[in-house]
Amino acid sequence: MAGRRFVVSCTHCKRIIVVVARIGDAELDHLHVHLLTCCPREVIGFSPGVEATLRHFRVEPTDPDEPPPEAA
Ligand SMILES: [Zn+2]
Repeated sequence: MAGRRFVVSCTHCKRIIVVVARIGDAELDHLHVHLLTCCPREVIGFSPGVEATLRHFRVEPTDPDEPPPEAA
């Protein structure tokens, strides 16, 4: 069963960081670690809340118009 997934890319370096079905604690942690290496000046002083972290990322669904592949 293929579900909708989301591409999460960094607004600072424009790189795609993760592609996930949902953003949970593990994903947020991964994103925060990226911020610390990508732009540490941006994250100094804030504790990694969901909104504060996601503010630095763009979240878009993957290929919304593309039907899921048929099972082989
Ligand atoms: Zn980045």
